[in-house]
Amino acid sequence: MFELAGHKCTICGAPWMEVHHIDELSEGGLTEYENLIVLCPNCHTRVHSTGVPGKPELRQYKLKQELLYGLPVLSRLTKAERTFVALLAKQSPESQLLFSTKDGIRYELDSTGTPVLAQAIVDEYGSLLEFGMVSINRGICVQDSTGNLHAVDASLQVTDKGLRWVRYLVKAGKLPD
Ligand SMILES: [Zn+2]
Ligand SMILES: [Zn+2]
Repeated sequence: MFELAGHKCTICGAPWMEVHHIDELSEGGLTEYENLIVLCPNCHTRVHSTGVPGKPELRQYKLKQELLYGLPVLSRLTKAERTFVALLAKQSPESQLLFSTKDGIRYELDSTGTPVLAQAIVDEYGSLLEFGMVSINRGICVQDSTGNLHAVDASLQVTDKGLRWVRYLVKAGKLPD
């Protein structure tokens, strides 16, 4: 939690940290990652005494911080990504460098014969690709009319960053379900 906050207040960046429940315990808020935010004593006191920034703003701050630290927002992962992360978490570190999805990552050739990632794949694994948790490992190649080779089938390769992230999720017990 502190590590993810960069050891700073999520609002003002001051290097003193307290943990605040966005939905208060008294309101049934849970002590789990999604509901916690790291604040300095000043901001923490202000949030409690004045209610500013409010809960939607606090969640915005938290989201901004997650994006800043280059982490996908778990609740925004697609079903395919959740499945992928869950499977990764069960594998040993050595065996998870290469990972073929069930039906592979497909490329489609556009009108000029240039392979583009199939739209479905981009949608399904968009967050993980965007945050650099996985990369595309190009597999089977075809030759177009000008003699250039293009990959038309490939697999997802987990990056070092992706591995660290999954290990962190396992350790923190917050794998997507
Ligand atoms: Zn602060
Ligand atoms: Zn608090």
